[in-house]
Amino acid sequence: MAIRELKICLLGDTGVGKSSIVCRFVQDQFDHNISPTIGASFLTKTVPCGNELHKFLIWDTAGQERFHSLAPMYYRGSAAAVVVYDITKLDSFQTLKKWVKELKEYGPEDIVVAIAGNKTDLGDIREVPMKEAKEFAESIAAIFIETSAKSAINVEELFKKISRQIPPLDPQDVE
Ligand code: GDP
Repeated sequence: MAIRELKICLLGDTGVGKSSIVCRFVQDQFDHNISPTIGASFLTKTVPCGNELHKFLIWDTAGQERFHSLAPMYYRGSAAAVVVYDITKLDSFQTLKKWVKELKEYGPEDIVVAIAGNKTDLGDIREVPMKEAKEFAESIAAIFIETSAKSAINVEELFKKISRQIPPLDPQDVE
């Protein structure tokens, strides 16, 4: 089975749960202890997709907000980007557009974009209606999903959806 390395980058405001999503996906844990330093760090996980294995190289922004000059390097060669907001913080949804704009400016043209509304376990204090977020995602032809890194809801599904959108190397490999 062919292994393909796919770079995935995570974007979104600090505190929305980017590191927690990666930690849930890669280690199936919630209390993450990843201490990002300068620039960006990445973790890997390999998942089957059709007749291929997708080895995700997942890059967490790690304060990339403060290192704006690193943006082109951060996006270079990415197969997909996950833009995360917090469903309990309207601000984090409003700045989503800023992240998408940056992505369009620096990211590869054919990049797969996924919008993830995280902390869905905190539905009682929701500030971002799902409908509005879904419509925004549709308007930019992005995948949309709500996740909870804490309760392990839809985190695997998020990456599965991304996998399915990556065109196979051999077109005959479509399931
Ligand atoms: P990042 O700055 O975007 O990487 O965010 P972190 O992963 O560091 O998470 C920020 C805070 O939100 C931490 O206190 C996490 O424990 C919390 N958090 C992350 N994901 C969830 C979630 O799905 N539900 C809840 N309730 N809290 C979360």
